[in-house]
Amino acid sequence: MLITITLSCILGKEHKLKLELSQIIPQIHANLHNSWQKDLREVITEPEKLLLMLNIEPKDYLQHFKARQLFPVRVPLPFIKRMIKGDINDPLLKQVMPLNQEFIISEGFSHDPLQEHNSKVEGLLHKYKNRALMIVKPGCAINCRYCFRRHFPYQENSPNKTQWQHALAYIADHKEISEVIFSGGDPLMASDEHLTWLIAQIEKISHVNRLRIHTRMPVVIPNRITPALVELLTTTSLKATIVLHINHGNEIDSDFINALEPLRVARIPLFNQSVLLKHINDNAETLITLSEKMYDIGIIPYYLHLFDTVQGAAHFNIDEKRAVNIAKEMMASLPGFLMPKLVREIAGKANKTPINLA
Ligand SMILES: *Cc1c(COP(=O)(O)O)cnc(C)c1O
Ligand code: SF4
Repeated sequence: MLITITLSCILGKEHKLKLELSQIIPQIHANLHNSWQKDLREVITEPEKLLLMLNIEPKDYLQHFKARQLFPVRVPLPFIKRMIKGDINDPLLKQVMPLNQEFIISEGFSHDPLQEHNSKVEGLLHKYKNRALMIVKPGCAINCRYCFRRHFPYQENSPNKTQWQHALAYIADHKEISEVIFSGGDPLMASDEHLTWLIAQIEKISHVNRLRIHTRMPVVIPNRITPALVELLTTTSLKATIVLHINHGNEIDSDFINALEPLRVARIPLFNQSVLLKHINDNAETLITLSEKMYDIGIIPYYLHLFDTVQGAAHFNIDEKRAVNIAKEMMASLPGFLMPKLVREIAGKANKTPINLA
């Protein structure tokens, strides 16, 4: 079937374009099949399958798989693609692989290390004076084993529009809030339509002028950077910023770099926060490489977090003294603007606590 499209150019001239429908359909098809929703549907939730994809024999690791009961396994394919085949110690695999150490009860580790579950308004954390953090979506595309929200009761806490409205009413009532931070889970689990609605509501609150999105989605599912999302972030009257979460240089591949391009072109500031994790990125060389790789693609290192003491993840923890030594070594090899701030979150403090490197 032949269809005719009429285009008018800026000179007012009309151009008729005749296209064979069968030429367009495959293109539409390809777009649908490359969607982030498809990537989400295809996440790997079986550790056996994950290991088989990496040419690792699952039967040597069966004892570890029951840790799924504590926190489900979820790994998107684009993230698996960047793992080194045959290497059980791959730094990306280690972030998602369930381990029987997760059953160990460790003293000083809690289910809610940041005391986030006593918030007055469900889905909103207003711990810092002028910045309020909104739990836009509780779930994530990936389940990182070290996540401090691994014990978060996701089902009971799934925000809906009513809950968003309560959070918005709180923000409107608190004139000191000048920045809204979209967090989660992962806020980019929300659809572009829902984000458009939410941002439009925030734009109406005159004392809010900055919007920050804390997300790991673009790293693990690069297709999430849709044209609609870029359009939304560039046309909003709020000053929009994205803070990514990358822990290791191997998480950066060409798909991710290409997906970020429209955000770079649109001059959306891109920052990154990492978590210091034992046997994953706990050496200066790895973190220096990460900072340099990020700078090449327009991402500025922001925070390097000391591990939050969440129960079931003590095997990722490194002590503060070692962290300080790693940070000092990094500082000696990085320009100041590529050095992330080493911080720890202490419940009840007015801001993140910087660790003294003197
Ligand atoms: C980390 C955090 C923020 C943001 O802090 P910045 O230092 O501005 O990045 C805001 N609210 C909460 C609850 C946080 O945990
Ligand atoms: S992406 Fe962030 S919030 Fe989600 S599981 Fe990983 S660390 Fe937790």
